[in-house]
Amino acid sequence: VIEITGLHKSFGALEVLRGVDLCASAGDVVSLIGSSGSGKSTLLRCANLLEDSQEGEIRFEGEAVEWRGTGHQRRPANPAQVTRIRTNLSMVFQQFNLWAHMSILQNVMEAPVTVLGEDRAEVEARARALLDKVGIGAKCEAWPAQLSGGQQQRAAIARALCMQPRALLFDEPTSALDPELEQEVVKVIKDLANEGRTMILVTHDMRLARDVSDHVIFLHQGRIEEEGPPEQLFGAPRSTRLQQFLSHGQ
Ligand code: ATP
Ligand code: MG
Repeated sequence: VIEITGLHKSFGALEVLRGVDLCASAGDVVSLIGSSGSGKSTLLRCANLLEDSQEGEIRFEGEAVEWRGTGHQRRPANPAQVTRIRTNLSMVFQQFNLWAHMSILQNVMEAPVTVLGEDRAEVEARARALLDKVGIGAKCEAWPAQLSGGQQQRAAIARALCMQPRALLFDEPTSALDPELEQEVVKVIKDLANEGRTMILVTHDMRLARDVSDHVIFLHQGRIEEEGPPEQLFGAPRSTRLQQFLSHGQ
């Protein structure tokens, strides 16, 4: 579904990604772990073209992103392609980012109706079914502020799913939540993994990464320090940096 090779990204003089590769085939769950500032969020944002990158290739469904310019002038060349990629790689953020002035149902329906131009009635039926699926079907008419953090995050996941994306990109979806609420969201993510959804998951929750991932990538200062199946990365980490990172109890 998505294949990134040799990605470089800097903010001015600060090199944040220094040649990163990432591949997620259909049905894969790939987790990104690493200390604060290692470049996890930046990699996710580069993958769906929310952020420009200076070098390296990004392929979506085998189709290479077209660029114009090079280095700091490099930009995606094809707006239709950018839209196609963004709408197919739906993001879920740590802070939910629900629209405060819309009901939960409207939040979930908004992008499929306005961005994809889909039929309102069809989108509404799908949105209600997705809200049921994540366990908040009774909250359709509520405002975001009336929901707990865990419920808001589940609404955000339903909103991402309503776009019928090819993959979901999660950026620390449970980090803003209290432990009890966190488990509600963990359960939804596990269900999605079991359904065979393609996902890239940035998380500080090592248990979650261990439970759901097919592949885990440990980023350190913008490079892949170690990667492999979760049993290997968590069970027998080879790099000293990864051993240190894991022993900090994260
Ligand atoms: P965390 O675990 O804290 O979320 P992260 O691994 O997601 O960290 P990033 O957010 O990708 O890290 O940031 C990587 C580096 O890039 C950091 O040094 C950060 O300060 C820098 N950075 C991120 N976004 C910007 C920006 N818009 N402008 C300048 N520097 C940025
Ligand atoms: Mg981050």
